[in-house]
Amino acid sequence: MSSTRKYRAAAVIGLAASWLVPHVADAHERTALTELDTVAPLAACPVAGPSSFIDSWGDARSSGRRHEGVDMEADRGTPVVAVRDGSAEFKRSNLGGNAIWLTAATGERFYYAHLDDWAGESRDVRAGEVIGYVGQTGNARGDHLHFEARPGDAAVNAFPLVDAACGPSARLGHVPVVLRPLLR
Ligand SMILES: [Zn+2]
Repeated sequence: MSSTRKYRAAAVIGLAASWLVPHVADAHERTALTELDTVAPLAACPVAGPSSFIDSWGDARSSGRRHEGVDMEADRGTPVVAVRDGSAEFKRSNLGGNAIWLTAATGERFYYAHLDDWAGESRDVRAGEVIGYVGQTGNARGDHLHFEARPGDAAVNAFPLVDAACGPSARLGHVPVVLRPLLR
């Protein structure tokens, strides 16, 4: 290789590097912003017993609402537990029925709805502690836990979190909805 060609090669590499460096920095910034919208893994599966669920994030619901949680089908009375250490606040509403807002020590909030009943009263809880029981109170059809994860004001899709925490035995993500009753 002549010295001229070596110089040209070096110039090309230099140009490429100067183009890449700011773009790599951009990518890091985007990653950092995205991480603010994510939730760390759950310390426990929200339902302490057999359950089945699919990824129904964004599915249409009544009055033009979109589904912002994971519906975990389980037998009525199956214990529901805190997914993190934090503060559990028990509330009742027309939509959620007997519901719980769990504020984790790390700041994220988790919403549990349609409970048949609560366990005890609003209090500080540890991950895995029983806080209620599966039911169908509020705007619900069939016994199930509606579970949401909210790192900030808005909910994020909790399916990957629940899927990771509850294990493959509960995973029905790829089974057509029409077959689900057969597998329960
Ligand atoms: Zn739901």
